Amino acid sequence: MSSPETSGDGLHIAIVGAGITGINLALGLQARNVSYTIYERSPGFREIGAGIGFSPNAERAMSSLNLEVFAAYRRIANANGEDYFQWVDGHKTGELIFKLHVGKDGFQGGLRSAFLEEWAKLIPPNAVQFNKHLDTITKLDSPKLLLHFKDGTTATADAVIGCDGIRSRVRQLLLSPSPISSSITRNNMNPKLPPSAHPTYTRKFCFRALAPMPAAISSLGRAKATTRFMYNGPGAHLITYPVGNSTLLNILAVISDPNPVWPHQHAQGRHTAPGTKAEAVAAFSGWCDTARAIVSLLPDGEEMDKWGVFDMAEHPAPYYARGRVCVAGDAAHATGPHLGAGGGMGIEDALVLAEVLGKVDGRVKRGDTAEGKGAVVERALEVYNEVRYARTQEVVQSTRAACDLFQWRDPEVGRDPERFGREIMEQFHRVWKYDIDGMVEEALAKLDADA
Ligand SMILES: Cc1cc2nc3c(=O)[nH]c(=O)nc-3n(C[C@H](O)[C@H](O)[C@H](O)COP(=O)(O)OP(=O)(O)OC[C@H]3O[C@@H](n4cnc5c(N)ncnc54)[C@H](O)[C@@H]3O)c2cc1C
Repeated sequence: MSSPETSGDGLHIAIVGAGITGINLALGLQARNVSYTIYERSPGFREIGAGIGFSPNAERAMSSLNLEVFAAYRRIANANGEDYFQWVDGHKTGELIFKLHVGKDGFQGGLRSAFLEEWAKLIPPNAVQFNKHLDTITKLDSPKLLLHFKDGTTATADAVIGCDGIRSRVRQLLLSPSPISSSITRNNMNPKLPPSAHPTYTRKFCFRALAPMPAAISSLGRAKATTRFMYNGPGAHLITYPVGNSTLLNILAVISDPNPVWPHQHAQGRHTAPGTKAEAVAAFSGWCDTARAIVSLLPDGEEMDKWGVFDMAEHPAPYYARGRVCVAGDAAHATGPHLGAGGGMGIEDALVLAEVLGKVDGRVKRGDTAEGKGAVVERALEVYNEVRYARTQEVVQSTRAACDLFQWRDPEVGRDPERFGREIMEQFHRVWKYDIDGMVEEALAKLDADA
């Protein structure tokens, strides 16, 4: 295993951000013996206490990335009662409208914090630096890029991979009309930046909660509480699945907002705002008994966070890589939660980056780079961009379309269960059945073609 800054003449990669994408990329590089350091602005590995599910494509990408990543994922993933994703008319009848096979033990959920912690155990302590908030990147013309952090410190690297989430600083630097080396030191609202530097409010917000499983079973019944379900209806939908070794039911209630802007814009960069359970109860009043029972499982009390759903569908980044800097995961193509695919896209990105950088690192270590280290790193990131752009942009767009289907807003489909089943199966299969091996082969072939 490489430790930071010690791999002789090989590459050293700076990963900005220790979320799902950053950690997976780190472990992919580690498996290929490429030296890296993660720089994370928080004081430790941090995820919120909510659930996340990884779809079959994400599982295949994890196995190819690093078998230990996949094994760690399996240790946390929570078995579903059935290998089906099931949709219910949550509004009128409470009856099943469609079920989709997820594959054997497929599309399992778990606690975000538990997945992150389990993966983080595989990262050597000297490979990550906390409390390092990236501000800018300079020295593009020199052999090493220079990262500047808000605490005044700097670090060097051969390439910088921004895995710094939906409000990515690295994306701002990458898309800035001025060269990256002229440092942008102001806040997210820098007016010179293009619209794609910022995510857009999708006019959806959500409530997220973890209900104790005994309470969930007693109000929904064992069959509904112990496997993955979604409840469709006009202007809202609910998703539930078990997490935490089936001690908790993860609940996500997504509500359409007539307001075109997130009314909390003043809270710079914050996607959460104070909400109330009463708001959720009102949004689902008149729905079927089960849907209302799910909403009543949200925690009682005056306030609970509501989350604005933001994405990059309206203002996609025109490219993910420039020179020796690129973005991956939400930093490149943030998407809504509706297809359960955003985390998986970051893991697919991580796989391609690990493969192309691993290959280039091998060439650099063998001295097999007549064109120079910088040029081969640039080409590797270009290849990453070429291979990942269409796939990820398609998922961002289809995620919005899927939400319309769940909330009966698609004028062609409406509430027709047969048409819904056909459409939604197609959407999920496009995400799940993606040819992960083919993606890697394509990336390596492009790189070989230039060698
Ligand atoms: C409600 C909801 C439900 C979802 N459910 C699913 C699901 O079931 N399945 C799925 O696959 N996806 C799901 N997603 C999407 C998924 O959560 C995201 O795609 C994923 O978490 C993105 O990971 P990331 O590592 O790219 O970014 P992040 O998780 O945002 O991580 C970015 C990291 O970078 C750090 N950082 C930021 N700026 C800087 C800086 N300047 N310097 C240093 N560090 C910095 C942050 O502190 C953070 O640790 C859901 C999303 C939402 C909103």
